[in-house]
Amino acid sequence: MGTLKATAMGADNNGMSNSGPPPGVDSDFSIFDTIPNPIFVKDESLRYLFVNESFESFYGISRSAIIGRSDASVFHDRDIQRLEREDEDVIAAGGTLESRETVRSDHGFAREVVIRKSRHRNASGNFILVGILHDVTEIARANERLEASQSFLHQQSRQLYRLATTDPLTECYNRRALFEAVEQREKLHTPPVCLLILDIDHFKTINDNSGHAVGDAVLVHFAHSVRSILRPQDMFVRFGGDEFAVLMPATSRLDGLAVAERIRRHLAEKPLQDGDAVVPLTVSIGVAGSEDTDSGVDLPALLRNADEALYRAKNDGRNLVRQAQ
Ligand code: GH3
Ligand code: MG
Repeated sequence: MGTLKATAMGADNNGMSNSGPPPGVDSDFSIFDTIPNPIFVKDESLRYLFVNESFESFYGISRSAIIGRSDASVFHDRDIQRLEREDEDVIAAGGTLESRETVRSDHGFAREVVIRKSRHRNASGNFILVGILHDVTEIARANERLEASQSFLHQQSRQLYRLATTDPLTECYNRRALFEAVEQREKLHTPPVCLLILDIDHFKTINDNSGHAVGDAVLVHFAHSVRSILRPQDMFVRFGGDEFAVLMPATSRLDGLAVAERIRRHLAEKPLQDGDAVVPLTVSIGVAGSEDTDSGVDLPALLRNADEALYRAKNDGRNLVRQAQ
């Protein structure tokens, strides 16, 4: 759609002629034939006074078929109502109006044009409308290609980031993602923060007894079970092997303990069903809260404290939740 702009390049804005002798009805417009851009001139009632050769070939219409006629009586596949409304606006208000049009050729090939229309006066003092077309197809196509490749790159970089920060087996975040999130503080804007470290009990025995594939299925089952208990804002991380962590923003240590206990019980009560076989599993969990450290959210301190609590949970017999002392 067009936009009315300030008067430019000799177009009049107030009905006063201002740029030397403007083209008039009786003048010789043939100079316009030397210009490669399609050009048209219309009278006040929006009938064509002139079109140059470039206009003829661009729209595939001869001068004799268009002079003295309106757009509506010549063109059937253009947005005539909009074009005429714009023409009327320029004739009424002056200034220069720039609008866009998509022109389809007989072969269905579309060209994008910018049409600059401005009001002038002819030798008799009547308003005339002069329009010049700029074919911007190549620029428009290049922009489209640029936008497409930018969006592809954006998509690729998001995918790369996901690959670099996600564990493919469990789809949990990895350690790097946890440290980055803490660095950016994006997931930690609401203290207190609680950290759980979870480690599957005797996982090596599951692997040894049932095979590595079942071990993998246990890891996936474990991740699925834990995720079913967490909130969307909790960050679930696989550190490696059978060791996981959960970072919970806006969560006190007491609330974190309750979540850990729910996870522990859920896993103990819902073992992995592997065909006909049932693979029982339990987890030990260490819990630490940011209230326990003076320096706010100090990830290394939280990790140390939760790890120490996990060590006690293992030592005290496993399938237990312990909190940092
Ligand atoms: P604990 O109760 O003390 O935690 O004993 P555990 O057997 O769970 O501990 P340990 O760290 O000795 O065993 C972890 C095992 O996890 C050892 C390793 O072979 C196995 N493991 C690590 N990564 C994977 C994996 O991606 N898939 C499978 N199936 N096993 C893995
Ligand atoms: Mg383990």
